[in-house]
Amino acid sequence: MPQAFRSERVLTPDGLRPATVVVEGERIASVRAWDDLPTGATLNDYEQLVVMPGLVDTHVHINEPGRTEWEGFETATRAAAAGGVTTLVDMPLNCIPETIDAEALEAKRAAAKGKTWVDWAAWGGVVRGNADSLPGLVAAGVRGFKCFMIHSGIEGFAWVDENDLRLALEKLRGTRLPLLVHAEIAEPVESATARLHAERADPCAYSTWLTSRPDAAEVDAIALLIHLAEELSTPIHVVHLSSAKALSMLTGARERGVPITVETCAHYLCFTSGQIPDEATVFKCAPPIRDAANRERLIEALGAGDIDMIVTDHSPCPPEMKFPPDEGNFNLAWGGIASLGLTLPAVWRVMHSRGVKLESMAKWMASAPAKLAGLEGRKGALFTGADADIVVFEDAAEWTISESDLRFRHKLSPYLGLKARGQVRETWLRGELVFSAGTFFGAPRGVEQVRA
Ligand SMILES: [Zn+2]
Repeated sequence: MPQAFRSERVLTPDGLRPATVVVEGERIASVRAWDDLPTGATLNDYEQLVVMPGLVDTHVHINEPGRTEWEGFETATRAAAAGGVTTLVDMPLNCIPETIDAEALEAKRAAAKGKTWVDWAAWGGVVRGNADSLPGLVAAGVRGFKCFMIHSGIEGFAWVDENDLRLALEKLRGTRLPLLVHAEIAEPVESATARLHAERADPCAYSTWLTSRPDAAEVDAIALLIHLAEELSTPIHVVHLSSAKALSMLTGARERGVPITVETCAHYLCFTSGQIPDEATVFKCAPPIRDAANRERLIEALGAGDIDMIVTDHSPCPPEMKFPPDEGNFNLAWGGIASLGLTLPAVWRVMHSRGVKLESMAKWMASAPAKLAGLEGRKGALFTGADADIVVFEDAAEWTISESDLRFRHKLSPYLGLKARGQVRETWLRGELVFSAGTFFGAPRGVEQVRA
């Protein structure tokens, strides 16, 4: 029997309007006029609540297998479901083994079995020396690859230089799969760090951490990536752009047709360096959260279409690593921010106050990331033939994020206490209710979206 999802405010690919989404089995059968109900359909009438596509988050560190005490498929995907995220793409590092060959991918698939509350997919890893393993990962169905241009923090995930990048891009040429790159290079970081050390800068001050990861590290890395994407005509994706100083260069390259895309993260939009207290290592991430003017430029760039999408870079760890025994020292704390499931209402509050529309939110958090992962035929928007991944969003609710809203493994996040706008009331995965009013339904039935 078909199901009908009706609302005065459905976020269709043509905009927010009264409509009825008809679902048969796991797929959307049609998107119709509000009063055009098929006979015999079960009606879910949401009146004024927003009916929108399930979000797609292409930057998540699930850490399983190998570091399940940091996070895991069960807890990460529950957090996702509660936050309206119906598809995750998992990063190839922080898990053991790192996803740098096909055997490691099989280990990840085995670990995920029966534990995922939402759909997921995998990025493969590019590290120094694994170019010959890339075709195997392509054949095994990864959605693209990820690498670092600076130390990743994980010993088993070696960073790459220009030669390694060229080797990898040659292997990926023709697959059209994107290479996602952590775009910071070592030299500006090393010289800033040496200077701070000579000045005996306080490692517990946020300003020390910020100064140690200068804009130049991002700008120089992105200049090289633009050059390589242009020369080799191979798609490159810049992950977690923090520095607005790289924007003009990126925009110029994109105008010339260089295949380069770019994401920023919710934490660069919700926080500014001036608000971060010293010793607050819960905010530590790389590249770092920069000042308020930089944040406004990132928001403007999203509006102008110069940044494609917003992701979480959800990267948790156990509390003792985020707050090591020498408490408040940014050098010792693990870098990474836990945020899965919180970012729609947190970012919506920031954007709503600046006059942004929900259509833009859906583009940045659903359709654009779906496209990056090659999932645009099935995910990221409400259209005939798409998976029936549906979120019911009460967009005007004002509230404050508290510990019970943190559904991931460790209740540790800079989003705690942050004011948010809008709440996810229901999440549906491929036609079945997963989450409603704080409760999870059914069993984990998420499926890996393997590239055919
Ligand atoms: Zn990351």
